[in-house]
Formats: sequence, C-alpha cells, structure tokens
Amino acid sequence: MGRHSEWRRIAKRQRRRKIRVQQAQLRDSILEDSDLQAQQQILDNLIEEQIILSNKIENEKWLQAEKNYMDNWEKLQQYKERLLQEKMEQKIKLTLEWEAEKERRKIEEEKLKQIKEENMKKHQEFLENLQKFMAGDSCEPPKELNYVCDTRPGAEMCTFFSKTATCRFGDQCSRNHQYPSISNVLLAKNFYAHFGLDNMFENNEYDADIMLEYDENETYKEFEEFFCDVLTEFEKFGKIVQFKVCKNYEKHLRGNTYIEYADLRCAVAAYRFLNSRWYGGRQLSLQFCNIRSWRNAICGLQAKQRCHKGRSCNFLHIFRNPNNLFSLQKLPEENYIPRRRTPPRSWRWSESPETEIPKDTKSSRESNDEEKKNRERRRSHKRKLRKD
Ligand SMILES: [Zn+2]
Ligand SMILES: [Zn+2]
Repeated sequence: MGRHSEWRRIAKRQRRRKIRVQQAQLRDSILEDSDLQAQQQILDNLIEEQIILSNKIENEKWLQAEKNYMDNWEKLQQYKERLLQEKMEQKIKLTLEWEAEKERRKIEEEKLKQIKEENMKKHQEFLENLQKFMAGDSCEPPKELNYVCDTRPGAEMCTFFSKTATCRFGDQCSRNHQYPSISNVLLAKNFYAHFGLDNMFENNEYDADIMLEYDENETYKEFEEFFCDVLTEFEKFGKIVQFKVCKNYEKHLRGNTYIEYADLRCAVAAYRFLNSRWYGGRQLSLQFCNIRSWRNAICGLQAKQRCHKGRSCNFLHIFRNPNNLFSLQKLPEENYIPRRRTPPRSWRWSESPETEIPKDTKSSRESNDEEKKNRERRRSHKRKLRKD
C-alpha cells in the first residue's frame, strides 16, 4: 500500500504538472492568438484606410474629370450656339444685302433702259435730221453733228494743227488740237503713196539711187493718175473748191490729201460713202478738218523753192495739180472745170483691200484692159489659194 500511494502521489503530481503545462501552453497560445489578431486587425484597418483613401482619391479624380467634361461640354455648346448665331446673322446679312443688290440692279436696269430709249430716240431724231439735211430740206446740219472736240481743253492752241489740221506730235501734243465734228474740208491722212515718197523717207542713204530710177516726171505722172482717180470719185458728191496733196516726207504729212467742198452736206455725203473704202490697196481714213487759210497751211517758200527744210518742212509742200487746178492764184469759180483728160480707173475703188497693179505707159484703154486682166488673174489666184 505504501508504494501504491507513493505512485499515486507521484502520478497525481505529474498529472498536475502536465495540467499546469497544458494550461500554460494554452494560455500562451491564447496570448499568441490575441496578438496575431490584434496585428491582423491593425493590418486590416490599414488596408481599409488605404482603400478608403484610394477610393476617395479616385472619386475626387472622377468628380474632377466629370467637372472638366461638363465644363468642356458647356463650352462646346456655347461655341456651337455662337456659331449658329453668327451663321444666322450672316444669313440675315446676306439676305438683306441680296435684297438691296436686287433693288439696286432693278433701278440700274431701269436707268439703263431709260438711257437706251433716250439714246434710241435721239439717234432716230439725229437720223431724221441728217436725212433732212442731206436731202436739202434743212439748211442747218443736225446739232448733234455740230460740235468741236478738244484734245486738251483750256491749253494753248497748237499753231501747226490750227493751220494744217495735223501735228508731228499727234494727240500727244502738249497744246490743244480742235477737231470739228463736221466741216467742208475732208482730210485723208497718208492717202497718197508712191515709191519715191516712201523710200526717200525710209532709206535716206539710197535715196539718190532710188530717185535716179524714179525721176520727177515719173513721180508726177503717178500723181496725175492719183489726182484724176481720186478727184473724180470725190466730185460725185458735189462741187470741190480745193484739192491738195502733200509731198512732204514727214510722217504726219506724207501723202495727206485735202478735199474742200463748196457745200457742207456734200462733204458729209462723201465722208459717209467713202470713209473706210479702199483705193489701190490702201484704206481711206477720212476726217473732217478746219483749214481757215490755205495760204497759211501751205509753205510759202516751197513754190519759190527756197524752203531750207525741204520736204521735212512742217507746213504743206504740195504737188502742183494738173492744169494748175485749184491754184491759190485762181478764183474758186475758175478752178471748177470738169476734167476728163484721162478716163478714171474707178475699179481701183473698192469695199475691200486690193493690191495695186503695176502700171504701164500704154494708151489708157490698153492700160485699163491689161490692168483688168491682171486683176482677174490675181483674183483667180486668190480663189485658188483659198481652195487649197
Ligand atoms: Zn500740236
Ligand atoms: Zn516749207
């Protein structure tokens, strides 16, 4: 029994010790667990705080983005509205402008129509008056025709132009040139052309050789033919009281042909019919001019062969007319003698350009026949060329 009680005592003691150890272990484990839990809690809390913070930041960002978007959208809307407004305003402005333009055009059209009608009426009146004047029913020319055109109104009159109706400076002259709308005197500028005149001017170096071939007699013969042709044609329109052809070399005077009619309406009739017609391949450009005094227009020294300027003179150096017709020394009545010394070659006058045919010195009839043949040959050649 003693031993057993000892064993039991020991066993109890050991069991108590074991229990104590177990309890200690449990306590320790409990303690350990609570630490871990606390740590976990802290960690959880930290994580939660971080999540909350992150959410807050994200939320703020989103709110900011939303705000930005809304701001932009609002700005865009405002911009669109402004554009629309501007577009509307532009449209209204354009509509108003178009309306005004339409109104302006309408007024302009009406004005033009009125002017056109007035002009037509005036032109009709003018034609009627001109017709009456040309038919001799009215003594006065239509007032629309009776005016003077100044190149430089108010400037001093050009002496040369006043005397000769032409000036070396043309209308670029610093002085005033007065063009009458109608007058008794017609001027055909540079109308008379002949080999001698043209070549003497262009080639001074060769003039001696050229003029050897073209002596004065030959030149004068050419002039006589021209005189007869042209005078005959112009006489168809009425009595001519003066006829002068220049032999000056100066370009503004070269070949100028002046024709003065006794009656104004004859000059107008000749102008209407002959202006722009062709003679011997040269187009006739007529203008009315005022020659107040033939003596002042013609170089006084030329007749006496004492003009030191020769044919470069700025006054008229004229060909002597056949039979001294229209001589300044004779009275106008004496001058007017019907001339038919050589038959006129009226075929040279035409509505279209014709090149001049070489002349020969045979009798006028033969000459005319030959020239007609030449003309026919040239025409058929032209026709052939056109066909080709
Ligand atoms: Zn002048
Ligand atoms: Zn002279």
